[in-house]
Amino acid sequence: MKAAIFLERDGILNLARVERNHQVTPLTLDQFHVNQDAKPLLDELKSAGFLLIATTNQPGLSRGYQSRRELDLMHQILRRELPLDDLFICPHDETDHCPCRKPKAGLLLEAAFKHHIDLERSFVVSDKWQDAQAAHVAGCTSLLLKSQWNGPGHHDFVMNGLSELVQKVMQLSASGCLILNQF
Ligand SMILES: [Zn+2]
Repeated sequence: MKAAIFLERDGILNLARVERNHQVTPLTLDQFHVNQDAKPLLDELKSAGFLLIATTNQPGLSRGYQSRRELDLMHQILRRELPLDDLFICPHDETDHCPCRKPKAGLLLEAAFKHHIDLERSFVVSDKWQDAQAAHVAGCTSLLLKSQWNGPGHHDFVMNGLSELVQKVMQLSASGCLILNQF
């Protein structure tokens, strides 16, 4: 079984504007800008043998303000510019009570099933508490990029920059020193 790095999309793989203390998800191609700083870091993780999987909540699909076509075009760009192996989307709204909207772990479990991923040797990288919570439920180690969305809940590591965060993943992975699950 392989180990994976699960990557939140907005704020990690693409730049996200901040308005009134909220990240604004890009809805159109012209608002979509790949985070170029992420590329060399993802290349490094890929070379180390990790599968790279993006996960994203896109409630605009079910609420009707995000066009599927536009989203697909954005994701084509993302997969062309970054060495991603797969990308999983939750299209639901909170009121749909689906199993995949983060902080639920559905996207991680779906990816693990499809790609035969060992979740306990895998990492979740994000700037938001929802991903750390999903990681906790799935048994992955979570690394949050320091932000105003880290929240007070469980997370394993908070790092100041993406480069530092990736070095931490490499270090933890090399030492086999992963967070042990309580269950
Ligand atoms: Zn969902």
